[in-house]
Amino acid sequence: MTAGPTREFFDPARFISNPSTGRMGYALAAEAAARGGEVTLISGPTSIAPPAGVSVVRVATADEMFSATLNQAQGADLVLKAAAVADYRPEDRARSKVKKETLRRRAKAAGAADRAITLRLVPTPDILEELGRRKKPNQVLVGFAAETDDLERNARLKLRRKNLDLVVANRIGVAGEGFEADTNRALVVRRSGRPVDLPLMSKEEMARAILDLAEPLLRERAGEVPGVGRGRRAGRVGR
Ligand code: C5P
Repeated sequence: MTAGPTREFFDPARFISNPSTGRMGYALAAEAAARGGEVTLISGPTSIAPPAGVSVVRVATADEMFSATLNQAQGADLVLKAAAVADYRPEDRARSKVKKETLRRRAKAAGAADRAITLRLVPTPDILEELGRRKKPNQVLVGFAAETDDLERNARLKLRRKNLDLVVANRIGVAGEGFEADTNRALVVRRSGRPVDLPLMSKEEMARAILDLAEPLLRERAGEVPGVGRGRRAGRVGR
């Protein structure tokens, strides 16, 4: 399970990030552990306490999340990638804080009249895409999507492009959904079958609904799956 944002530093004091709180990923980790799963949570910087019985690996950058996730995923039956991973990072990371005066001098030397500076960004590795490439026959991969437009179409494209089994798609910019909200609403796109609309509910309820959709796929793949699905069954979520 991955959760939270990543931080892409350009010096020790400054980074590029996003508003992810990690709540959805933490709720999924707690629910999977409650169902008897052996859960490893790879978490970007968040202020929430880790769920009981879950082992936590803390990371900051997309590169660190990439290494930790690929490492952990080797032995995992189910991989849920709820983290909001930065797609780009600053090309250079200075060892010491870059002073404003230095930036001004550089801007002047480069002939920038308005003192603007240029921050060059390079792509981070797409963790989920790499997991999709390395997917084992018994593994189930669940991706997340946060979109402002064309929710279903974008989720379907992602499902195919990244070789996923489920995509949980949220709308960005709608109150009560996605980033920084206690509640969530999503459309879950699957390889076969119609998309499932999960109406507005708490992130804990949504974690149950997502695992209710993932568990049959796990059983289908492996017959008898160790861990997930053997523990206490959570109540069904009303739709
Ligand atoms: O294609 P897009 O980045 O919107 O896909 C979102 C999904 O991909 C999420 O599940 C997210 O955790 C994952 N992702 C990733 N590595 C990245 C970017 C996104 O694993 N560098």
